[in-house]
Amino acid sequence: MAESRPEYDYGNHLDALNRATGRLRSRHEGGDPTQPTRTWLDEDLTPDGLRSSLTIILDTGGCRWARAGGCTMCGYVSESENAEGVSHEALLAQIETALEREAEQADGPADVVKLYSSGSILDDREVGPETRAAIAETFADRERIVIETLPDFVTADRLEPFLEAGLATDVAVGIETANDRVRRDAVNKYFDFEAVEEAAAVAREAGAGVKGYLLLKPPFLTESEAIEDAVESIERVAAFAHTISLNPTTVMEDTLIEELYYDGGYRPPWLWSVAEVLNRTADVDAIVVSDPVGAGSDRGPHNCGECDETVERAIGDFNRRQDPAVFGEVSCACERTWETVLEREQSYNMPLER
Ligand code: SF4
Ligand SMILES: [Zn+2]
Repeated sequence: MAESRPEYDYGNHLDALNRATGRLRSRHEGGDPTQPTRTWLDEDLTPDGLRSSLTIILDTGGCRWARAGGCTMCGYVSESENAEGVSHEALLAQIETALEREAEQADGPADVVKLYSSGSILDDREVGPETRAAIAETFADRERIVIETLPDFVTADRLEPFLEAGLATDVAVGIETANDRVRRDAVNKYFDFEAVEEAAAVAREAGAGVKGYLLLKPPFLTESEAIEDAVESIERVAAFAHTISLNPTTVMEDTLIEELYYDGGYRPPWLWSVAEVLNRTADVDAIVVSDPVGAGSDRGPHNCGECDETVERAIGDFNRRQDPAVFGEVSCACERTWETVLEREQSYNMPLER
């Protein structure tokens, strides 16, 4: 692995961003540790085809990096209510609750279980080895499990319980961008692309797959720069990930992006940009999907208000069929505005004269 930095003491260049992101966090301590943050049922395109899925966001106390300041767009730390950590028993109670909700709402067990914590399921401080083994056993009757983690924590040992349970196992890594400068200076994430490639190699050697999460439009990038960054990132991540999830930025509470947004320094990406990136990368050797959160709202990825729903639906169709022809069927007058933005928008903080 590349240099792993578990205590997140990353020197001066990140201090300012960490101070800013850390100051903006609001923690809401003391939630019920036996309840998961959220669960929902859905359908997902997997390497084996379209499958039913159960997503569980565990409250594990949250991401270590978020507590050190964290990423400029991430407000998930506010959702992790138990900063002191959550016990084995409480985590299993969260899984029980998720299973009860699934039994109430679905016809049968979902094929795929997606386990997130807005942190790392493979971090022993969030979820201990004993708990991971019990979780693997609980879901051994499913087809596939997706496990969110930062790259630092990917080891064959930690993946073993899931693989031994006979589950197709994917590590889900928030890579955000393949560009180290954008990841460090705009997203404020501490690892470099090489660390992701190395973690992916470890996962693949152990018999697991990789699902890469990319961010469309970190702060400080223009709309057109954001599109180029996402296209290039998808092309590079497809070399080791069988599935890529493109996440257009939503303005979350208590984040640096929210401050910029209120100061007129940030607009979430256009849904046309999401369509453009999916269209341009349709032939890469990976499933590429996008599930825009808050689509059509001012704080979420949006177009003019008239066409948001139609474009969102086209993106949903693309997720299931991977056919870029779906985008040829949608149009709106606001495409002209979007094109003008791509042409004329200048980088954030560009000098007025040179
Ligand atoms: S995006 Fe991931 S790594 Fe960054 S603060 Fe949020 S949970 Fe932590
Ligand atoms: Zn429109």
